[in-house]
Amino acid sequence: MRTLLDLVVPVDCAGCGRPDLRWCIDCHAALAGPPVRVWPRGAPGISCWTLGSYAGPARRAVLAAKERGRRDLAEPLGVALAAGLAVLRTAGRPLVLVPAPSRAVAARRRGGDPVLRSARVAARCLPDCWVLPILRMGHGVRDSVGLTPAERARNLRGRVVSVPVRSSGREILQSAEIIVVDDVVTTGATVHESVCALVRAGLHACGVLVTCAA
Ligand SMILES: [Zn+2]
Repeated sequence: MRTLLDLVVPVDCAGCGRPDLRWCIDCHAALAGPPVRVWPRGAPGISCWTLGSYAGPARRAVLAAKERGRRDLAEPLGVALAAGLAVLRTAGRPLVLVPAPSRAVAARRRGGDPVLRSARVAARCLPDCWVLPILRMGHGVRDSVGLTPAERARNLRGRVVSVPVRSSGREILQSAEIIVVDDVVTTGATVHESVCALVRAGLHACGVLVTCAA
């Protein structure tokens, strides 16, 4: 069956192009270290960690999931995220993952939101962990490609919004630690606005974990 499927959809490692497997052991190792603290300029005062830099296998995998519809990468990227979260979380407290939002148009074009998908995999790997996808891009947000850091910040300012949390979710949140997750941080504008939107909703994120940082 595997061979038959390979004839239809050839799979190669999204990190390095090695044939016949979607994610190889070397690329797995590239994201397996403990999270590294980063200080994106556009996100002052927010504790931000990354699994890797925006280069090599991590960058290629994130782009493949985002731009080329490689849904199968949710599994290895989610597992890597879970390993990082296991290091960052406080023992004994529930953990709530809030995926940073992407533009609805962009998410539809790529067949769903790869950040949400990886977050769900990560939550499945960890005890006492939930995903709370409550953040949305508001109206009027343009594609950020080609924008300067200042333009990106202006494009997003006040435009990440949250949807109401159901009462069952509220209960978990009272004792939980909240971490915002995203695939890549560049200027920090998205994570900054995400954390601000949570504050407006009365929720305090204790940090941000991304797959790679530019
Ligand atoms: Zn590889």
